Amino acid sequence: MGQLAVKLDVSGVGMTSQRTRNRLTDRLREQGIIDESVLHAMGSTPRHLFVDEALAHRAYEDTALPIGHGQTISQPYIVARMTELLLEAGDLNSVLEVGTGSGYQTAILAQLVGQVATVERISALLDRTLVRFRQLGLHQIKAKYDDGQLGWPERGPFDGIVVTASPRVVPEALLAQLAPGGRLVIPLGDLETQTLTVFERQESDIIRTEVEQVRFVPLLGGRS
Ligand code: SAH
Repeated sequence: MGQLAVKLDVSGVGMTSQRTRNRLTDRLREQGIIDESVLHAMGSTPRHLFVDEALAHRAYEDTALPIGHGQTISQPYIVARMTELLLEAGDLNSVLEVGTGSGYQTAILAQLVGQVATVERISALLDRTLVRFRQLGLHQIKAKYDDGQLGWPERGPFDGIVVTASPRVVPEALLAQLAPGGRLVIPLGDLETQTLTVFERQESDIIRTEVEQVRFVPLLGGRS
């Protein structure tokens, strides 16, 4: 598990200050996030360093923001909720994230679980995010440029898998890479309507639970 300690000024001032981050965690509590470890990670992670400088003043609004290449950094509430759903399975040694994007969800996970592996299909986006991980001292994250629908078989099975883009149906390869007792948290649906869904691998079967309506960018095939 990692601490964010580092070569960048993570403290921020004004709209990017610790005080502003505290207001974000207050809002997350009001929205029903109860896991204190998740709230702590959300309150101590400098989201303003995961967006372009021109958008830094909006980084602690509870909203998705553009990160280039037609993609978005996920809304803080959704990041907190998905992380909380993963952690309900208990202590997690290894987690796979599909859709690295800005790396914000990855950085939150890195503070809460043993090992984080993440896969991104847009190389230019991943390159920028890898620099960010280095600057933030997040050396323990393993990242790969690939189509994340295939998972990362060499690193699996995983105690948790989180998918931050939405396919219509659940990719079989991801279910196959879930360890016993492991959970896959994934938005399923089309561009209009998506349902955050949890798949839990039990002894002989997989339990599916629908959580709430969400809106993500689509999970696309191949690499770009
Ligand atoms: N967790 C990210 C979310 C970024 S948006 C963040 O908070 O910043 C979703 C990301 O999923 C985009 O970067 C998109 O390129 C990526 N993505 C979409 N389909 C993918 C696929 N098949 N494999 C890997 N990444 C994918």
